[in-house]
Amino acid sequence: MAPMADTAHPPLDSAPAARATGPADGTGGALPGPATGVTRRHALTVAGGVLAGAALAAQAFPAFGAESQDADAIVVGHGLAGLVATAELAAAGRKVLLLDQEPEASLGGQAFWSFGGLFLVDSDEQRLMGVKDSRDLAWQDWLGTAGFDRGVDDPRGQDHWAYKWAESYVDFASGEKRSWLAGLGVQWFPIVGWAERGGGLAHGHGNSVPRFHVTWGTGPAVVEPFEKKVRAAVAAGKVGFRFRHRVDGLVTTGGAVTGVRGAVLEPSGAARGTPSSRTVVGDFELRAPVVVVTSGGIGANQDLIRQNWPARLGTPPKFMVTGVPAHVDGRMLGITEQAGARIVNPDRMWHYTEGLRNYAPIWPNHGIRILPGPSSMWFDATGRRFDTPDIPGYDTLHTLGSITASGYDYSWFVTTQKILAKEFALSGSEQNPDLTDKNVWQLLSRIWQTPEPIERFKNKGADFVVATSLADLVTGMNKLTGNDLVRLADLKRQIEARDREIDNPYTKDVQVMGIRNALAYIGDSLSRTASAHKILDPSAGPLIAVRLNVLTRKTLGGLQTDLSGRVLGPTGSPIAGLYAAGEVAGFGGGGVHGYRSLEGTFLGGCLFSGRQAGRAAAAATAT
Ligand SMILES: Cc1cc2nc3c(=O)[nH]c(=O)nc-3n(C[C@H](O)[C@H](O)[C@H](O)COP(=O)(O)OP(=O)(O)OC[C@H]3O[C@@H](n4cnc5c(N)ncnc54)[C@H](O)[C@@H]3O)c2cc1C
Repeated sequence: MAPMADTAHPPLDSAPAARATGPADGTGGALPGPATGVTRRHALTVAGGVLAGAALAAQAFPAFGAESQDADAIVVGHGLAGLVATAELAAAGRKVLLLDQEPEASLGGQAFWSFGGLFLVDSDEQRLMGVKDSRDLAWQDWLGTAGFDRGVDDPRGQDHWAYKWAESYVDFASGEKRSWLAGLGVQWFPIVGWAERGGGLAHGHGNSVPRFHVTWGTGPAVVEPFEKKVRAAVAAGKVGFRFRHRVDGLVTTGGAVTGVRGAVLEPSGAARGTPSSRTVVGDFELRAPVVVVTSGGIGANQDLIRQNWPARLGTPPKFMVTGVPAHVDGRMLGITEQAGARIVNPDRMWHYTEGLRNYAPIWPNHGIRILPGPSSMWFDATGRRFDTPDIPGYDTLHTLGSITASGYDYSWFVTTQKILAKEFALSGSEQNPDLTDKNVWQLLSRIWQTPEPIERFKNKGADFVVATSLADLVTGMNKLTGNDLVRLADLKRQIEARDREIDNPYTKDVQVMGIRNALAYIGDSLSRTASAHKILDPSAGPLIAVRLNVLTRKTLGGLQTDLSGRVLGPTGSPIAGLYAAGEVAGFGGGGVHGYRSLEGTFLGGCLFSGRQAGRAAAAATAT
């Protein structure tokens, strides 16, 4: 068996392939990692293959002396941040090894699966929609949302660099982000979405205006230009892929990071996003003056999520669906910490409250998030309507706190077919084939029919109840959860009260006000908000109840970095040779978002921090 079959790409013109070394450091740092599952028998079986592979590699790439470098830079993680950093390094003429524990099929990491929503400020698309936005308004919103309160002015404060990154990021999103990406061929759907509308006050949390720009082609179209650049650099001998290389430790020399070591995993034919085997067939050690860690967050590691769960969000739900592939395991955080890095804001995380169990899972416990419009009524598990700001699309973490405070793991949308048809969107490239495949005709069909993926979830998903009467709906809800927590009389009273508020163009019901506010924005009225109607109006039916699970997704804290992406140690000094970008670095600085996000800021955070780190690492290795 060829142990590195999926590394069969042109090598760096002077870099050897992975060298066999002593035993891999399998401890994986302070944080738990996936079991390697290697058995003695299997190890013996594959040993011959490893030796044969090493011999072939040595023939193909002449070995360096013990002190030689294998590349100018090593990048750990081939997600969006890693691709961007690698592309920058290669563009500056550096030789790069790009390592990942997954096979080539998963190149692009989470970003491939993403909806491709990008936070842009004062864009052409916003102007087309009549949205007046500015850098000042965006910064007001960012500050109100982030709530930075951990030593912004203290150079050792957890929010010190996070704040600086936030300022730079808002400048980027209001400035060259759009033109840079457009120059790489990225385009956006013209209707700008209004995500995370916030808690109610202008200076507080939330987007004052729509800013969620869905990329034409969704996540894959965000990855594409950077993948192309990296593949071109591979062809030119500037970049070497090292798939199935799991980093288990950073090599340090005199306090500086000088390389990585880890395990070569057996070749895998796992399809994109599905878990790949962790069977070890060898080990490796690679050296370079610069290591860039771009290994993603902890979203698939529910143990780590629970360990770091903040008291302010209540007790973590016993059951959560997982919104990211299994490779988002968080191991590299502990490994990098062991090399001297400082992790900040580990208790800040971004989980969604509208998770569906996927009837056709790709990764374990696969959950899909509903991106909701403003009209569904939202109830806790006992059928008590949530108060403001727990309205669909307003304040993700406040609602999460309200759900955990209810004492139950889930909540309910009660809605109508009319709302479902116009307002439900599912996050994920595979759930939006019209946008992902750039199919205009299919996209237009959303005007007269419920998008097919939504209809399929309604019919096949385990969390949907459909009924023509409220009594039947309540029976179905209680049957689904196996209890009798929801009472018909209570639910009826609350829905009828809300429905009475529809009779006038003004109201005291905050959610109904929100619907009217949304309809005043042409983008929402065209594509994301159903006209205000009574939930119990049979012509808007059937009635639909959706059980909503908490869905794990993003890590807001992480490795603290300065504006060059240099990883800082506990004293605030950079660790020589060590850089980080993307989700593992809290999307910049160890927490560019503070406590909360304005949405569409994660891909952008990977693009910006990957670019910063790549450029700085290239400058640091200039000869
Ligand atoms: C379904 C979905 C929808 C989303 N929608 C949006 C959206 O619309 N807008 C938005 O802004 N964001 C969105 N996001 C979030 C965004 O996609 C991610 O935050 C971002 O892509 C993270 O990129 P990354 O490069 O930091 O990490 P990742 O994509 O997680 O890549 C990290 C890579 O590092 C590798 N790795 C980890 N540890 C090791 C190790 N020890 N050795 C070797 N390799 C290792 C992993 O295998 C992985 O390939 C979405 C995410 C998902 C899953």
